[in-house]
Amino acid sequence: MQALTTRAKQVERKPLSFLESIYLWNIFKGMAITFKHMFKKQPTVQYPEVKREFSPVFRGLHVLNRDAEGRENCTACGLCAVACPAEAITMEAAERLEGEEKLYREEKYAAKYEINMLRCIFCGLCEEACPKDAIYLSETFAPASYARKGFIYGKQDLLIPNPVTHPVEYAAAKGNRSSN
Ligand code: SF4
Ligand code: SF4
Repeated sequence: MQALTTRAKQVERKPLSFLESIYLWNIFKGMAITFKHMFKKQPTVQYPEVKREFSPVFRGLHVLNRDAEGRENCTACGLCAVACPAEAITMEAAERLEGEEKLYREEKYAAKYEINMLRCIFCGLCEEACPKDAIYLSETFAPASYARKGFIYGKQDLLIPNPVTHPVEYAAAKGNRSSN
């Protein structure tokens, strides 16, 4: 039949040599590759005994930050929610009352703050959008859960421990990420 294109190429079939016909040479070549890999450094990490170092650009669980006096940084401005491409963040703002100056840094604060981790793609845009250094992505994993509800993180799950009353827990939660 007439070929429609000129792309097809005729392959010349060479007769096999003696070595090729007993396949020993190819078996040795294959075994040599296998042995070479046996002496290479194993890429398997023996987790949890051995923990792998995170990449410097790793983004994990979100943390709602406090200032050095333990006051919440977030002013519920909503910029993180607007920046979030997955629409994973919601919040409710409230006005700071007299006597609450030690709890909240600004006159407005987030009475409720929620992140849906099932939607989150850990892009870090919320952190970049925040003008108050109130949210950052830590080096911690979001823990597993059996229920979808378990992945809706409220303010109580996200808020960093108070550095004044719980300095050790604060330092552990802070990790190396935040600039503050
Ligand atoms: S990391 Fe990205 S997807 Fe996740 S909450 Fe922040 S902006 Fe949204
Ligand atoms: S975390 Fe930052 S950007 Fe988001 S509401 Fe609070 S202050 Fe605004």
